[in-house]
Amino acid sequence: TPEPLAPTLDSARRVLKQYYGYDQFRPMQGDIIESILGRQDTVVLMPTGGGKSVCFQVPAVVQEGVCVVVSPLIALMKDQVEALKANGIPAAYINSSVGLSEQQSITSDCYNGYLKLLYVSPEKLLSEGFLTFLQRLKLSMFAIDEAHCISSWGHDFRPEYTQLRVLREQFPQVPIIALTATADRLTQRDIQQQLRLNQPQVFLSSFDRPNINLIVRPGQNRVGGVLEFIERHPGEAGIIYCLSRKQCETVAGKLKEKGIRANHYHAGLTPNQRAKVQEDFLRDDLQVIVATIAFGMGIDKSNVRWVIHYNLPKNIEGYYQEIGRAGRDGAPATAVLFYSFGDVMSLRDMLSKDDPKLTQLNLTKLERMQQFAEAASCRRKILLNYFSETLPQDCGNCDICRNPPTTFDGTLLAQKALSAAVRGRERMSIGLLIDVLRGMRNQAVLSGGYDQIKTYGAGADLPYLDWYSYIHQMLNDGLMYIAYEEGYALKVTDLGREVLQGQRQVPMKQFKPAEKAPKGKKA
Ligand code: ADP
Ligand code: ZN
Repeated sequence: TPEPLAPTLDSARRVLKQYYGYDQFRPMQGDIIESILGRQDTVVLMPTGGGKSVCFQVPAVVQEGVCVVVSPLIALMKDQVEALKANGIPAAYINSSVGLSEQQSITSDCYNGYLKLLYVSPEKLLSEGFLTFLQRLKLSMFAIDEAHCISSWGHDFRPEYTQLRVLREQFPQVPIIALTATADRLTQRDIQQQLRLNQPQVFLSSFDRPNINLIVRPGQNRVGGVLEFIERHPGEAGIIYCLSRKQCETVAGKLKEKGIRANHYHAGLTPNQRAKVQEDFLRDDLQVIVATIAFGMGIDKSNVRWVIHYNLPKNIEGYYQEIGRAGRDGAPATAVLFYSFGDVMSLRDMLSKDDPKLTQLNLTKLERMQQFAEAASCRRKILLNYFSETLPQDCGNCDICRNPPTTFDGTLLAQKALSAAVRGRERMSIGLLIDVLRGMRNQAVLSGGYDQIKTYGAGADLPYLDWYSYIHQMLNDGLMYIAYEEGYALKVTDLGREVLQGQRQVPMKQFKPAEKAPKGKKA
């Protein structure tokens, strides 16, 4: 029930107990809710399962007026609204699937102040007349769910999201809260800029999921590997992600042949078929789902014990989101990635056919994914570095930590690369940096004047691919990062500067190509 005076965190806590049955907020939730109740613009970056929904739903209940939630997926909207109603919170959604008479009853529920949350698709929000309708309501806030969709740097870009700046223009007094499970630097920047947020409070919760054991395995005999894995995890629920629909069906078929309760799931199924598979899985009637990445957004099943990637994912954002569906209950879980160089080749072919504007970005992201798979240092560190988070120690819960490869002291190599990057004013891409280190005399080197810098040719003793591997190890270790928005220039981090100043050693793995590229294809 709404309270007339400015609501407090205490009243929010009572709502949490009354409607959700939880005794307390998770640590960051309390701070976020205080920020929202203070009517501040707020950005929430929290991994899937972290509890983002509560952050805007509870303030929506305790505040006066309607909270308008922008959400990109009709299925997600429906689930959330049904869950809210089941908890006794007045909520509704309007999108293309809602009929006219129902829309009318929803709008009158808005006018009479009954509804606390109204979910809309961005298309609906921006459609003729809808903003005018909102102008006549008392609004508590706008909640922009899956806010990373606003960024063309992200993996889930929705052009309609970029129009959301009209909210700030037309409703300057209404606070905006943006929520996402994507935390990279560029996405964060885009969210704040494009939504025109006003000195927002930013809450970045750790993306670490220490209970997930990270494993990468060579991609030979994948079916055999999967069967063996399932045999060693009897009865445990899991998801296998495949690249194509066809492959989902084939793999699911092979599991069924062995008597495993498995089924496939992809966008080619009818909505009814999909709902059925999903429900069977939620009820534990199915042990294994073999799916394309179409499966998983908004799935709330806490006891998924493992996720297998049958193929290399296209980028680390996607990979991390998918493995994050395992172990949401906090109990030990496993993520296995099958990897072969052939996967990189086929993904490269696929990505090269995409929108040319995005091709280079996507190829660069694929490279980072490849380097994760080929890495020789703690895999969790690599993931967290990718999301600009640092882990003070190796994790002890990945295959590398458990079974470390032999390393050598790569400090000098790292210093050469870092020094060249700095002397080149941090404007060089990876390829150019390697050419400079190796003393090449091509157009890009000469026209940039890079043959004049002191470290030019300092790494001429090593072949290109070796440097390529070492530089990616440095990226993975957080000594440098790629500024996509500045022509893919390599930038040196504070950690990298410590290496340059001789304050930090850099262990590196000897470069050994794991597999040669298949004949007939160029790398
Ligand atoms: P997200 O949107 O970040 O993926 P959800 O909002 O779906 O996460 O929350 C994930 C799960 O955690 C849900 O089952 C939710 O009910 C539960 N949850 C959220 N907040 C709390 C809390 N304060 N105490 C206990 N459980 C919570
Ligand atoms: Zn580790």
